[in-house]
Amino acid sequence: MLQDLYQELIVDHGKNPRNFRPIEHARSCQHGNNPLCGDRIILYVQHDDLIISDIAFQGEGCAICMSSASLMTQVLKGMSLSDAQVLFQHFHDSVVSGVAVEGAQLGKLEALLGVSQYPTRVKCATLAWHTLVAALEGNKETVSTE
Ligand code: ZN
Repeated sequence: MLQDLYQELIVDHGKNPRNFRPIEHARSCQHGNNPLCGDRIILYVQHDDLIISDIAFQGEGCAICMSSASLMTQVLKGMSLSDAQVLFQHFHDSVVSGVAVEGAQLGKLEALLGVSQYPTRVKCATLAWHTLVAALEGNKETVSTE
C-alpha cells in the first residue's frame, strides 16, 4: 500500500517535475551527468552563506532522476546549507541500504528508497544530490556518476 503511494509520487514528480525552471543569476549553477542512464540535469541554487533561498533544475532523464531532483528541490528550499549537507548524507546512505538510516528525516524522499534493489538506479536517484554538493562547494566541473 505504502509502496503504491510511493510509486505514484515518483510517477507524478517524474511527469510533472516541480521547480523545473532556470534561476536567473543564480549564485551556483551546476551540471550533472549520469551517462549510464542518459540523465542530464542543470541545477540552479540561490543561496547566501547560510540558507538556500531558491533552488530549481532543468534537464532530461528517467522518471527516477527527474522525480528525485524534483523532490529534492521541494525539500531543500528554505533549508540551511548545513542541514542540506546532513540530509544529503542521510539520503545517500538510506538509498544505498534501502532503509532510512538512524536520525534521518527524509519525509517524501523515502519514496525513493525502493531503488536500493536496483544498483544502477541508485545513480539516477542520487545524481541531483551529488550535483547539489558540487554546487555548494563551488565546483565548476560537470558532475558525473562515472
Ligand atoms: Zn536514470
